[in-house]
Amino acid sequence: MPELPEVETLKRALTPLILNKRLLELRFLRKDLRFPIPSSQLRKGLLNQTVSKLTREGKYILVHTPEGALLLHLGMSGRVTQSSSIKPVEKHTHAIFQFEQETYLHYIDPRRFGCLLWIPKGQGHPLLDGLGPDPLGTEITAKGMKLVAGNCSKASIKTFLMDAKRIAGVGNIYACESLFAAGIHPQRPARLISTRQWELLLSSLRKILEKSIAAGGTTLRDFHSTDGSQGYYKLSLAVYGKENLLCPVCSTPVKRFMQSARSTFFCKSTLRC
Ligand SMILES: [Zn+2]
Repeated sequence: MPELPEVETLKRALTPLILNKRLLELRFLRKDLRFPIPSSQLRKGLLNQTVSKLTREGKYILVHTPEGALLLHLGMSGRVTQSSSIKPVEKHTHAIFQFEQETYLHYIDPRRFGCLLWIPKGQGHPLLDGLGPDPLGTEITAKGMKLVAGNCSKASIKTFLMDAKRIAGVGNIYACESLFAAGIHPQRPARLISTRQWELLLSSLRKILEKSIAAGGTTLRDFHSTDGSQGYYKLSLAVYGKENLLCPVCSTPVKRFMQSARSTFFCKSTLRC
């Protein structure tokens, strides 16, 4: 599943390709993804418009024009490729964007959990309004997180981290890895995490995300290597997916258990709390 670093990598790879370019043609090969595709709104807002900016909010990419913004999400299996023609080449190609200078982008999503939506200028969107602060953004603080978590009587810190309403865009890999780096037990109630621990957790999370973004490369080709694997596989993970392998800090075997229907990986010996 594309995680925040892959989405940030995609945004950075798309920026030099389409920024300040006009969209000449837009084709949709189906009517819906996770939500119906508002094709007439998208055509009206994007066709013959010049891309003024690309931004990311959590795992959403916004492609801005003077009329508003295309809201793009990759879902479970989505990706964007650059192609040399408007003709679909890959199975599950659902949308094709033709920009100036023969720049063709193909949106591909086999499982169709992604979305392509339109946000008119000056308006918000329900999918974005509920998002917590971005872990790489400037508005997230340890004090702020401590305050929000203080009201969560039951949630574990791992479930809290993965709740997009609390913090935007943190998936299972980055929740496991950042909790391990901060020495916090994934089942510890979120409300018991101190401001000092939040500081450690947020700085660990940021470091791991940034390392992963750096490993993800800077072009669309880097984003998906030919074997289909994504940036985060290039990152050396400490505990995620490492059940029974040795912890890189203390060499005891990494443990796995199920938490909110997701695998949690952690090392009991390196916990500080
Ligand atoms: Zn350990």
